[in-house]
Amino acid sequence: MAKRLKFWGWGYEDDVVPDSEIRWMESTWAARFGVQGFDVTPTPKAEEISLPAPRVTPPASLASLCTTDHYERVLHSYSKSFPDIIRVYRRECPAPADVVALPRTEQDVIDLLDWCYRANAAVIPFGGGSSVVGGVAPPAEGSHSAAVSIDLRHLGRVLEIDAVSQSARIQAGTFGPSLEAQLKGAGLTLRHFPQSFKCSTLGGWIATRAGGHFATLYTHIDDLVESLRVVTPSGVLETRRLPGSGAGPSPDRLFIGSEGTLGIITEAWMRLRRRPTFRATASVRFADFYRGVDAVRALSQSGLYPTNCRILDAEEAQYNGLADGRFSVLVVGFESADHPVDAALKRALELCADHGGEAEASAGDDSHLEGAAGRWRERFMFLPFFKEHMAARCIFRDAYETAITWERFKDFHASIRDAGLNALRKATGRPGSVTCRFTHVYPDGPAPYLTFHGLSSSPERLMQDYWTVKSAASDAIIAGGGSITHHHAVGREHRRWYDRQRPELFARALRSAKQALDPKWLLNPGLLVDPETA
Ligand SMILES: Cc1cc2nc3c(=O)[nH]c(=O)nc-3n(C[C@H](O)[C@H](O)[C@H](O)COP(=O)(O)OP(=O)(O)OC[C@H]3O[C@@H](n4cnc5c(N)ncnc54)[C@H](O)[C@@H]3O)c2cc1C
Repeated sequence: MAKRLKFWGWGYEDDVVPDSEIRWMESTWAARFGVQGFDVTPTPKAEEISLPAPRVTPPASLASLCTTDHYERVLHSYSKSFPDIIRVYRRECPAPADVVALPRTEQDVIDLLDWCYRANAAVIPFGGGSSVVGGVAPPAEGSHSAAVSIDLRHLGRVLEIDAVSQSARIQAGTFGPSLEAQLKGAGLTLRHFPQSFKCSTLGGWIATRAGGHFATLYTHIDDLVESLRVVTPSGVLETRRLPGSGAGPSPDRLFIGSEGTLGIITEAWMRLRRRPTFRATASVRFADFYRGVDAVRALSQSGLYPTNCRILDAEEAQYNGLADGRFSVLVVGFESADHPVDAALKRALELCADHGGEAEASAGDDSHLEGAAGRWRERFMFLPFFKEHMAARCIFRDAYETAITWERFKDFHASIRDAGLNALRKATGRPGSVTCRFTHVYPDGPAPYLTFHGLSSSPERLMQDYWTVKSAASDAIIAGGGSITHHHAVGREHRRWYDRQRPELFARALRSAKQALDPKWLLNPGLLVDPETA
């Protein structure tokens, strides 16, 4: 039997956090919040979550593609956002998926959409379900009669590789590890490694404009998409494979980031590269975070375009095991399939030294995962597994990922941090923590990622405390001129801030596109835009 994704947290059912790590987490957070220990809510079991009978029955012709299995319905009723994890731990399911459909071909997707249209059922495209913004949780309200989650996990193949142009035609439901494994034999790689790589899919990355491996240049999946095939209720659409085009607004760009509201992406031609063989990585300590930020700005404007360029403030560096809490740490690295990159690293370290940075360790070639950079990578991939254990202990954790131009960064960072710390104290009655790192940097500004931690006094308070802090931080992001999201997407949970960010005239244009492609507004109702009358 295939491994099942967890419905209550990150990863697969058999991904277990070792006791030693749990003890480390508990002692770190007990010290941080000044408490002796934590009451722990037990991990939920699927049978503890009661669901109403499905409101819709698939026709006989589609029955073999659909399931109402309890575990599958529960899994498809939540995303991986913190509010959804709180709901799971409360054993609450306010808006369950009625039916889960598992198409095996594009024609199945077409037939399923036809049926949902006839049945007036909301359609939720589902990749890996790793959305952290409520993107795959069915809507609680709306004029639809039921909710059908269309899970693309069986559309998981690399269909064609064009070694000359270095691109591949890949089905949308392909998970990260399988995608890379299928390309490996050709010596090629997509090199899109979001932290959620293991349990997320190509279609999900495209639908959410995911951010991946590269800290500079090819940051978003957008740049790696050559063409798309999309099934919409109004028909199937395929864009041309082109390395570039000046022919009007890009049809690809309409669907990239459309979060399943305009159609279901079934496959895409993706730009690949050769697997890197030359690497050089170093970590650099800064006594002052903002001097480190200046160094990162110099690097991002130098034309060197490091592959990795992620600075962590002192508290976050300590939490990641990179430093003792006195220093901010920059992890900087270069890679190439073609030429040595040591000279680029050398120049990057000179730029850092100009801003007071002290190189800790550097490594080339195969030892690239040693030292602080390696420790960061290990922790980075492990941290998501803590989230559900934190929720079980009434610790809430959330990340605010945004972007801002360099000249506004310092004030922007301070205002979000202050808003967060004040809200944490107001909500919980005790101090919390707000840390910052950069996930990506551009010549004109960084993408800061601020992580908040707070401790609620009881499971009953957790949701309210979470939203008090989330609202304060999100208000500060919008007031400061930033984006409500840099790469996690809008989903249900960023919607009210997204509405304040985007121009109203753009909302009208998007509404018209939605009306043309999804005339009954059944694809992911409530995401991105509502009908005129709402
Ligand atoms: C631990 C963790 C770490 C993360 N790290 C990152 C990160 O580093 N970078 C990053 O960008 N994001 C990150 N995320 C967020 C999430 O992984 C991304 O948004 C990812 O792109 C979602 O992919 P998925 O296949 O899981 O999509 P899902 O979560 O299943 O769906 C996301 C949205 O896209 C829609 N959708 C899915 N597939 C399709 C399709 N084929 N056609 C049309 N619409 C579709 C869904 O309806 C939904 O609205 C992280 C999440 C977690 C839990």
